[in-house]
Amino acid sequence: MAEAEASARAGADTDECLHCAIMDMVEERIAGGSADAANLVVLIAESLVDVILLVPQAEQAQLMAHTLSALGDLLLQKSSPDGSGSGSQPIRRCGRPRSTLAVRLM
Ligand SMILES: [Zn+2]
Repeated sequence: MAEAEASARAGADTDECLHCAIMDMVEERIAGGSADAANLVVLIAESLVDVILLVPQAEQAQLMAHTLSALGDLLLQKSSPDGSGSGSQPIRRCGRPRSTLAVRLM
């Protein structure tokens, strides 16, 4: 019970956008000059896997499919000139502008 209450409080205090928190860390690493894009995406992908493994095993494949669908939809939406993507269902997302930093693949 105490653990559940502590967890609920932590959630209430966490109003920062998770996407923005991750991108802040990514931009810090790029600005520090030690980041490469391939390593960054592997680390973020590992985080996605850890989240997928949090759901019951019977639901993990469905969440994996949702993850890959969202990845494609978001890339199309965010890379299109007007942000509308390919005409698929728009995904509710953070309004933070894309980073202007550049990073090498490796
Ligand atoms: Zn955000």
